Amino acid sequence: MQYDVVVIGSGPGGYVAAIRCGQLGLKTAIIEKYNTLGGTCLNVGCIPSKALLDSSEHYHNASKHFPEHGINLSNLKVDLKQMIKRKNGVVEQTTGGITFLMKKNKVTTYQGIGSFVDKNTIKITKEDGAAEEITTKHVIIATGSKPASLPFLKIDKKRIITSTEALNLTEVPKKLILIGGGVIGLELGSVYARLGAKVTVIEYLDSIIPTMDKGLGKELQKSLKGLGFEFLLSHKVTGASVKGKTVTVTAEDAKGAPVSVEGDYCLVAVGRTAYSEGLNLEAIGITLEERGKKIPVNEHLETPVAGIYAIGDVIKGAMLAHKAEEEGVYVAEQIAGQKPHINYNLIPGVVYTWPEVASVGATEEQLKTDGRKYKSGSFPFKASGRARASMDTEGFIKVLADADTDEILGVHMIGPRVADIIAEAVVAMEYRASAEDIARICHAHPTFTESLKEAALAATANRAIHI
Ligand code: FAD
Repeated sequence: MQYDVVVIGSGPGGYVAAIRCGQLGLKTAIIEKYNTLGGTCLNVGCIPSKALLDSSEHYHNASKHFPEHGINLSNLKVDLKQMIKRKNGVVEQTTGGITFLMKKNKVTTYQGIGSFVDKNTIKITKEDGAAEEITTKHVIIATGSKPASLPFLKIDKKRIITSTEALNLTEVPKKLILIGGGVIGLELGSVYARLGAKVTVIEYLDSIIPTMDKGLGKELQKSLKGLGFEFLLSHKVTGASVKGKTVTVTAEDAKGAPVSVEGDYCLVAVGRTAYSEGLNLEAIGITLEERGKKIPVNEHLETPVAGIYAIGDVIKGAMLAHKAEEEGVYVAEQIAGQKPHINYNLIPGVVYTWPEVASVGATEEQLKTDGRKYKSGSFPFKASGRARASMDTEGFIKVLADADTDEILGVHMIGPRVADIIAEAVVAMEYRASAEDIARICHAHPTFTESLKEAALAATANRAIHI
């Protein structure tokens, strides 16, 4: 079979690239080694984690907040089996949707491991060893990532687990030890904390969600403490062992003193590593970057081999589904001869805890390091009528704008539904809006989004109305 484009990997990078190629009239194939399409994101990432976050949040609200709303329930209990079953249903529906989209866009799907024979020939090897070869003018590598670990930690997938197993537990942990205070760990830790687990986070750095604006990490930590989280920051994990149903994690505190924590499960969430095993990149002369084992690409996302592109988690940059999707569209349009563009400064980052956390653009720490003069305006959700009505008063929105031009440089938020509100900040920044622009746009009342307008008002001559 001769194709214009062969995409290897069907995560949000790969399947979106394939759809866009199909839309552009390119004869396209996609290869996926698993039985279902959708990659990490749809099968064991974004979608199942959000399904469990929503279910657990319902339980948490019913048990902790309903009485204050005047709703009294009796015999409230968690049916984890049903929760996981519903999650699996959501995953099935969503991955099935991708199969439909492949057909709709005339993309041929191959199941098996894709590997290079040469730059125009791809071998597809099925689980039973049967293989076939297809030829193509262009290849898009979208093979994603896998959970990272620590060299001395053995992940047994039963008691010492990764996010993949954490999405399929058969019981709520009594005490969950979380190694790593990043996004994935805190989201999954929240799920089980809401369902009754005691969660202890062991983090090497001195703050959680360390890549985001510092103010957000502090506020989230406060909120998660309220949920019963315990934090051991500036602690270096040195080992973990399992005896029966007990996991013991050892660490050193900032002064080097030994610390030991016991639990019934330990979730290792120390990031993800680019995945390119099995591609046989040697056959086409691609050498991985030393740092992070990423596939090297130029500004057009083309590897050192002409006609071979790479996108998503397997290349440099944020390991996020929407970043992978943007790159999928970019490469498809590039191949079709268009002149696409991605603004990497405006890729939002979101943490789906409750309160949610969302961020775009420069942090205060970055602006200080760069010596850029800026203004800052904040608005707390406790001053929002909408937030008080729904009892979601934790958090704030902060707008950072250039001190002279008023151009918005960064927007950082923690609070209710900020995962959605951040889109307004992204649009504004894409059009290089000033804080004054947002401050002068009419926002519906009462909504959570008014808090962004208020923060923008605060950033322009400190003129927020409701505080
Ligand atoms: P992937 O989604 O990893 O897909 C790669 C695919 O390639 C896989 O299906 C793999 O089987 C296949 N493959 C690999 N090698 C071969 C081969 N040789 N032949 C054939 N197929 C191959 N991101 C967000 O933006 N928002 C979130 O809320 C979010 N939540 C997350 C929650 C969890 C628990 C996890 C683990 C991740 C989360 N992420 C989230 C990250 C997100 O899942 C990834 O950034 C995204 O999936 C990357 O997309 P990708 O297309 O690069 O690769």
